[in-house]
Amino acid sequence: MPGVAPADGWLVAQRRNAEDELLRHVAMMRVDFGAQLDAWPTEQVREVLRSERYFQAVHLPSAFQIHPRNYALGLAAAAEQAGARIFEDTPALAIDSAGVRKRVDTPKGRVRAGHVVLAGGAQLGSAFRAVSETLLPVSTYMAVTAPLGEALGEAIRYRGSVSDPRRGGDYYRIVKGDRLLWGSRVSTRISPPRGLAGTIEREIHDVYPQLGMVKVDHAWSGLMSYAVHKMPLIGEVMPGVWLAGAFGGHGINTTAMAGDLIASAIIAGDDRWRLFSSYELVWTGGAWGRAAAQMLFWARRLQDAVAESLAQRRDSALRRAAEHASREAAERERRAAEAVERRAAEEAARAAAEESAERFAAAQRTASQMAHQAAVQAKPPRRIAGAVAAQKVELRRAACAGGEAELGNEAAYGFDRAPAGSEEKPAAPRQQIKARRKAKRS
Ligand SMILES: Cc1cc2nc3c(=O)[nH]c(=O)nc-3n(C[C@H](O)[C@H](O)[C@H](O)COP(=O)(O)OP(=O)(O)OC[C@H]3O[C@@H](n4cnc5c(N)ncnc54)[C@H](O)[C@@H]3O)c2cc1C
Repeated sequence: MPGVAPADGWLVAQRRNAEDELLRHVAMMRVDFGAQLDAWPTEQVREVLRSERYFQAVHLPSAFQIHPRNYALGLAAAAEQAGARIFEDTPALAIDSAGVRKRVDTPKGRVRAGHVVLAGGAQLGSAFRAVSETLLPVSTYMAVTAPLGEALGEAIRYRGSVSDPRRGGDYYRIVKGDRLLWGSRVSTRISPPRGLAGTIEREIHDVYPQLGMVKVDHAWSGLMSYAVHKMPLIGEVMPGVWLAGAFGGHGINTTAMAGDLIASAIIAGDDRWRLFSSYELVWTGGAWGRAAAQMLFWARRLQDAVAESLAQRRDSALRRAAEHASREAAERERRAAEAVERRAAEEAARAAAEESAERFAAAQRTASQMAHQAAVQAKPPRRIAGAVAAQKVELRRAACAGGEAELGNEAAYGFDRAPAGSEEKPAAPRQQIKARRKAKRS
């Protein structure tokens, strides 16, 4: 069909943290119904839906979406091609179902037929009260935003449709490249609420604050119909009068299935529609029923809001704790690295000080050796020369006194005994000579 543009995938993302519950649901759907679906953990969900509102999700890869208006136009064209005549804007005001040939009254004419199919949903009204009183009209709301540019693709990286499982939760997808088609909430109020566009703008902002306040180009509401037992009503309500209704919560896929079942029942006597006969027509309670449904809806909405708020608080507490722990770990690492650096710097300073002390000592040793050598090479020879001169004088005196040989030996001996380079004065031979001379005389 032209313009139906099917797109694959559906992600049902939870707005509360309930992993076990989700895993049980996925296992049940796989085992009991053979459904093809996967459970996604929170991290995987937040990779494609950049919002802290979401936790785990069920992914249905084989689910798909279509452009419903183009689908309706395509069905109408196919019906006309097959010989059907369509009269738009023509309400059925009354239906006489008593005879074999049924009669349908419209403002401008009357239609007679062997079979009548009631497919008007909750708007059927007075045309067939026995059925319309079993259908609860429920409004739901939609909007399409102005083009949002690349930011939209950054915030929503999933290209299928997204919804959350709350009562009257959000459902949306990207259309026309960068517009957001957003639906949400349900109500038993039939007329559209005031300020619908602004309400939806705030809802989008609450989930994707990074988009700023988006602008809604067009917002509208529509009616769905629900049965009390929430199952579709499909089958023959009396001979020749068929019903296909109460598809609220099930959607257009089930309407096509109902159309097939009823068509093949009328044409070929196929009685598979009886699979639905246990879901009977149950009076919805009129205005009181609508009020009760609204109260129930509000109560459940409140329940969901409390569960979500608790989940959000727990999540932010966990996030704060994780951030705190990671900050502390980083601080510990920083301090440890600082301590290592400080120790290394101290070690390097100590080694440098030791090396410098050693160099200083070595320089001192070298300086003192040089000083010593200089002393040996320069000073002592002057003293030695003095001493040698003195010795020569003494030796001359001793020679004059006649004890030359003996004294010469003694003097030489006494002189030689002074250590090389010693600064100690050599023993003066004069006293010795005097002492020996004295001893000789005596
Ligand atoms: C805003 C909104 C969003 C939705 N989003 C989705 C979605 O994303 N996916 C999904 O699968 N489903 C969605 N649905 C639900 C889906 O549209 C319905 O389940 C489906 O259209 C039901 O089909 P139906 O033929 O039973 O009733 P309807 O589509 O309501 O058609 C009934 C038709 O009968 C006409 N009618 C009623 N009484 C009379 C009368 N006396 N005489 C002549 N004509 C009469 C009405 O004018 C109407 O045109 C959405 C519904 C709404 C309102």
